Amino acid sequence: MGKVRDIVDILSEKYQINEWWDKYSAFQTLVSIILSQKTYWKNVRAATKRFGEQFGSIKDVAGASTNEIEEAIKPAGLHHARASRILNIARELVERYDGKLEQIVDLPYEAAKKKLTSLKGVGPKTADVFLMTVKGEQVLPVDVHISRIMGRLGIADESDDYESLRAKLEAEIPPNERTKAHLVLIEFGRQMCRSQNPKCEECPVKKYCGGENR
Ligand code: SF4
Repeated sequence: MGKVRDIVDILSEKYQINEWWDKYSAFQTLVSIILSQKTYWKNVRAATKRFGEQFGSIKDVAGASTNEIEEAIKPAGLHHARASRILNIARELVERYDGKLEQIVDLPYEAAKKKLTSLKGVGPKTADVFLMTVKGEQVLPVDVHISRIMGRLGIADESDDYESLRAKLEAEIPPNERTKAHLVLIEFGRQMCRSQNPKCEECPVKKYCGGENR
């Protein structure tokens, strides 16, 4: 077995997965992913719920003002920048796809990802998390936690970009285990291999790691 596989197996014993997205529409899911960056889950959930209550369709969002969107997503913080981003995405979806996100979701993975990342404000990580969530695409999106963990563990190096690091992880994690691996690694990054003050002494994978300065 490879190093990534070993580490994911050890961490999977320790952390429960949390599939939080089931109850959302596709667009609400995209919004929740945008809101989840550097934000506590509790606040993301509250903001996503308020957003869903206020806007019934992508066209409703596209016709709203930035202020109205800001107000809806307020519990998540950073609301001005995020509201602009959400409004831009909704407007583009209405202009290009008549507000029907399923026109993208129904495409094969590569084509769907290409169309998603052509929307201003949607990068490859957001697109991958979205497709994994709404469609069960068997990808292993690399977020800021996973990137940091892999750097510390010596798996990511300076030449890696998003796609090359994703490929390294996916080479060792079989398709049907990637969603779980993604969630487990994020949980590890939140609870233990934190950006500041990682809990290295109690880390179950420290034998693989040179420590936080690695
Ligand atoms: S030993 Fe510390 S820096 Fe290394 S993986 Fe564990 S928590 Fe992260």
